[in-house]
Amino acid sequence: MCGIVAYIGHREACPIILKGLRRLEYRGYDSAGVALLNGNLNVYKKKGKVSDLENFLSDKDTHSTIGMGHTRWATHGEPNDSNAHPHYSNSSRIAIIHNGIIENYSTLKTLLQSKGYTFYSDTDTEVFINLIENIQDENNCKLDEAVRLALHEVVGAYAIVVLSKDEPNQLIAARKGSPLVIGVGQDEYFLASDATPIIEYTNNVVYVNDYEIAIIKDGELNIKTREDIPTTPYVQTLALELDSIEKGGYDHFMLKEIFEQPRSIHDSMRGRLIAAQNHLIMGGFREFENKFVNAKRIIIVACGTSWHAGLVAEYLIEDLARIPVEVEYASEFRYRNPIITEDDIVIAISQSGETADTLAAIELAKQKGATIFGICNVVGSSIARASHAGAYTHAGPEIGVASTKAFTAQVTVLTLLAMIIGSKRGTIETSKLRSLMIELENIPSKVEQALEMHDKVIEIAEELKDATNALYLGRGYNFPVALEGALKLKEISYIHAEGYPAAEMKHGPIALIDENMPVIVIATKDSSYEKIVSNIQEVKARKGRIIAIVTEGDKVIPAMAEHVIEVPATSEYLVPLLSVIPLQLLSYHIAVMRGCNVDQPRNLAKSVTVE
Ligand code: GLU
Repeated sequence: MCGIVAYIGHREACPIILKGLRRLEYRGYDSAGVALLNGNLNVYKKKGKVSDLENFLSDKDTHSTIGMGHTRWATHGEPNDSNAHPHYSNSSRIAIIHNGIIENYSTLKTLLQSKGYTFYSDTDTEVFINLIENIQDENNCKLDEAVRLALHEVVGAYAIVVLSKDEPNQLIAARKGSPLVIGVGQDEYFLASDATPIIEYTNNVVYVNDYEIAIIKDGELNIKTREDIPTTPYVQTLALELDSIEKGGYDHFMLKEIFEQPRSIHDSMRGRLIAAQNHLIMGGFREFENKFVNAKRIIIVACGTSWHAGLVAEYLIEDLARIPVEVEYASEFRYRNPIITEDDIVIAISQSGETADTLAAIELAKQKGATIFGICNVVGSSIARASHAGAYTHAGPEIGVASTKAFTAQVTVLTLLAMIIGSKRGTIETSKLRSLMIELENIPSKVEQALEMHDKVIEIAEELKDATNALYLGRGYNFPVALEGALKLKEISYIHAEGYPAAEMKHGPIALIDENMPVIVIATKDSSYEKIVSNIQEVKARKGRIIAIVTEGDKVIPAMAEHVIEVPATSEYLVPLLSVIPLQLLSYHIAVMRGCNVDQPRNLAKSVTVE
């Protein structure tokens, strides 16, 4: 996590860096800092948000055309001023910003302490910069060579930028496992964790690869490997628009992103589905069609909300394509010596495409010969590049830490994939496929209808905002939606919530139900409707407060529930795309009413690039 940004060129660096940090603040917001080179190497840093840093800088001389900044998500050492980045080396000659974790920092720290180094923070990062200084002093070499040698000593993940007072007009950056992108402007360069701080200046970007070092000096960019072999920077043109990363009149990114879903779902189908022409394709699928058609098993690896999208896909693929599916938490999968064969397909799902555990799970599966299909939102991300094939979700940048439109875009792409595999394998009847194609095309307008329940959701949020616990129940395709609804509530409103398959309630959670317990039941008209009606009765018999998500026109459940929220009728296969919408809105409004910082919930950060 953490956001890093740097600038070298002819403009004032500090305003560019601060603006970039604000754009990257979704990645971490424990503390923020900048280092600016103007003869001296000045570091300014503060606990808190980027706005606290800005206030702190207001009376400082920040004039400089070279600098770097950092917004932190603490891994080593509590969020405070001294653990904030940038970190100086002991001589204060060089400074570093770092995103990632140096796993062997403790051994390196002991070694450096034995050589007389002193540490002023608890971070792994301060060890890294002193290691570089020590190597430079012992080898009497240039900074880029010292960085290169240091990369051989550190174990873990990093994207770093290093500045030196003695070698001005130069920025050095390197990465392994954490994202780093360079914007190439006219006689100026921008470095950042993602492209959002860069696109208002240039669309030309270079993605730095693992174990590469970028040296920007005297207006030139050179890249070499950790083994000292020069590589040619590959400049790509990004199609990201500035509007897409701004709030556009909404109070929070999360609300904007919830309301963007009719468009983002549409975009995730664009070019892939035209029902009238019987057109159903996915570029990334074609090359591996035989693998998919003959796959004995599909394993889905993901974390958090993406894992919930994976669970929806399990139902879809098993039902429509008749291939066994296993859905795994990437963090467990990577460490449990899983059985993987060359006939397996591993689908990796990640909004950012940088999720460290998912990346590691892919590497493991690749070593064992599996075919990797990546489903990511961020173009050019590490998972997209590490996969054999894949599909972008095209949801547009998601800035709100609680994922909303990325989830529905993932589910859309996975639905398309299940339909395509099913049609190629002949496991889905033509008429069923046709009607599903038509219905999927209609989903964006049905999401729009679901969003019209906004006022009703606000009314319910008002009643639930003081709850201390909540239970979310669903069956079948709505079970993963129950998990997702509970996760949304937990992460932004800090209310404890659990998602359960409704029938499982009897095996424990029912003990929690009393007149204070809100039970949010997703009870749309589908094959398990009768069963879930019985589950609602069971909750009602114990005086639980029932809030039900129902299909438009339902006459039965409103008679039992305290509140109902209607969503349009659709195919059972597509219902998660609609039933999740009111749950996103509910968690949003409860969080706002509780005074929580919706876009920057405590302890969280957007893309989890540390394991
Ligand atoms: N390990 C560094 C720290 O705790 C960077 C953390 C991160 O990238 O999230 O300061």
